[in-house]
Amino acid sequence: MLNQYTLTTPLTSVRGVGPTILKQASQAGINTVGDLVFDLPSRYVDRSQQAKIYQLTQDGTFTILAQVVSVTGQRYGRKTQQKAVVADDTGKVTLRWFNSPFVLGSLKINQTYYFSGKYSTQYRSMTQPTYEPVRPTQIHTGRLVPFYAGLFDLADGSKRRLLSQIFKLLQVEPTHLDLLLKKHTLPAELEIEPNLIEALKKVHFPDQSQQVTAARYRLALEEILSLMSRAKKLKLEWQKLNSAKSLPFLEMTVTPSEITFPQLNIDLPFRLTPDQITSIKEISHDLTLTQPMNRLLVGDVGSGKTVVAGIVAAHVVKQGLNACLIAPTQILADQHAQSLAQICPQLSIQLVTARHKLTPDKLQAPSLFIGTHALINKLTQIKPALVIFDEQHKFGVIQRSQLKVGADTPHVLTMSATPIPRSLMMTIFAHLKVSQIKTMPEGSLPTQTWLIPERKRTDQLVWLDKQLTQNPQALAMVVCPFIEPSKAPGLDKIKSVTLTTAELQKALPNLKVAMLHGRFKAEDQAKIIAQAGKGQIDLLVTTTVVEVGLDLPNADFLIIEAADRFGLASLHQLRGRVGRRGQDSFCFLFSASTSSESKKRLAEFAKINDGQKLAELDLGRRGAGDLFGTRQHGFDQIRFFGWTDHDLIGLAQQIEPQLPADWQSIIPDLQSNPNVLDDQPVAAN
Ligand code: ADP
Ligand code: MG
Repeated sequence: MLNQYTLTTPLTSVRGVGPTILKQASQAGINTVGDLVFDLPSRYVDRSQQAKIYQLTQDGTFTILAQVVSVTGQRYGRKTQQKAVVADDTGKVTLRWFNSPFVLGSLKINQTYYFSGKYSTQYRSMTQPTYEPVRPTQIHTGRLVPFYAGLFDLADGSKRRLLSQIFKLLQVEPTHLDLLLKKHTLPAELEIEPNLIEALKKVHFPDQSQQVTAARYRLALEEILSLMSRAKKLKLEWQKLNSAKSLPFLEMTVTPSEITFPQLNIDLPFRLTPDQITSIKEISHDLTLTQPMNRLLVGDVGSGKTVVAGIVAAHVVKQGLNACLIAPTQILADQHAQSLAQICPQLSIQLVTARHKLTPDKLQAPSLFIGTHALINKLTQIKPALVIFDEQHKFGVIQRSQLKVGADTPHVLTMSATPIPRSLMMTIFAHLKVSQIKTMPEGSLPTQTWLIPERKRTDQLVWLDKQLTQNPQALAMVVCPFIEPSKAPGLDKIKSVTLTTAELQKALPNLKVAMLHGRFKAEDQAKIIAQAGKGQIDLLVTTTVVEVGLDLPNADFLIIEAADRFGLASLHQLRGRVGRRGQDSFCFLFSASTSSESKKRLAEFAKINDGQKLAELDLGRRGAGDLFGTRQHGFDQIRFFGWTDHDLIGLAQQIEPQLPADWQSIIPDLQSNPNVLDDQPVAAN
């Protein structure tokens, strides 16, 4: 057996790790000492308050040091109870456990242990205390005790024991960052543990709670630096590329009365906003270079990103080259094809979806190819000079290698409605250039949003019936979390598309109610959307398939069922589906939860119409989780870092230039997960 461990020591060589633990650990992706020690506690229980037995006069969690006087067990039917009487030099106390027969075998009479648990004055005993023999340093009692919630499903006690053993033998040479931090004058307002191994020890076994914060900051700092240096590398890599098509500058004439594009045949039914104009200029400047563009176009829901994409795509096609526009859903691809055909009547547009195959004839003339993610696999055939990703966050991670179109790299434009905090923009997205549409098109009114209590449901329906009857063109959308009713306990009351459609049709027999969800065939989806757009449907009951980008000008009313089940960013996207013509529009939220926290959140949402503000609100409340979603976005791999740690970002910016070019974090996950930032930002809506 080894008498010294490093972060890369396999768990197989660690003392006390048997086959059962090994199996569980490897299932959770934990194979080395490093994997284990970077799996941080999710919470701590304060068992540091030590007491003598005579001091146990009030309810609370205490740790006592006492000798075992007696241990007994009793059986009540199928249940068992274990009791011990323990004593110190000030008195005796009874301890109770339930269904814990192992206590009988492990507590030895006359031996002294630490016991930590809740003392109840009513029963004059401690219930279910944790105990451990006296050691040089306690790990389960008499201190802040760590608890774990990771995937590694090992009992907390066993995990603590294993970790404390490991820390005794773990040697980590001071890392490059450790040495830098030691030299660096750390900002006074930021208490940070400069040494990585100390940070790890303290995060698992803190003596005081401040140590946890200081230790987590150390890990978070390393993580930010890792993301920053990755962004820097990507930027350099991208800058070295020199094989994109260079286009002439896109001419644009802006006069007070109109905006025209002399080279293009474009028919705009509205005047572009100043930010749209600036974005077009910035993009078309990038397109003049042989260095491929890597630009992000951010703008709140409804800010008018599509037309910007259409104009620059038309410019590319006009030069005899192909462009691609990749949308997250087929509905959206259809819609983009339609709306861009109106704006650019002479532009050759090819829809490439499951229904519309990419046939050789489509490759004859320079075109804008619009499709879903599957279009990515067609890039080698299409060889586009420009690839535009709409609502990027829905894609998961795109590898730059996938963007190879023969020897060339296309220019890449990514569009997203996710407001990305400035601090992040400058650090982990430093490899992207950003255009931002900050102002909404003139005349767009905020959607009036109301949180409707359940008892007012009927009133709301009566009101809606009247509105829809008076205005036959108007469309109301009802969004439900589920397609079919769930049978799971607790979820069976949550509204589903099928049931709600039937209920609404029954309640409102004079209105046309239809449903739409992701299990419909693409052509049926398209048919329903078209009918809805023409005013042939009054109420469209649907799921979040309509969430991103859908542009139905006659959609005036939105009802969101179980709104508490959606993140604020999703709700905001959904709300962006109504009032698209700048007409009065309404969003009604029903909550399936009665918790006051969730009501408060929805009430705030009803008041705030600005996506950036909502994002900040969510960020402030619970980190990036909701804003960036949890699974498909790549951001979930960010483990230690909270987006609002501004001081920490500041420190990272000071430190970063001092790191060697080939610096790599020692933290296992930060090395093996390049996906966090492969070229494209992967953000939620
Ligand atoms: P998003 O940025 O959310 O993708 P869209 O591009 O779908 O927004 O645009 C939202 C709506 O606003 C569309 O109906 C579009 O035609 C319209 N629109 C875009 N730009 C302007 C503008 N400058 N003035 C008025 N309406 C506009
Ligand atoms: Mg859009």
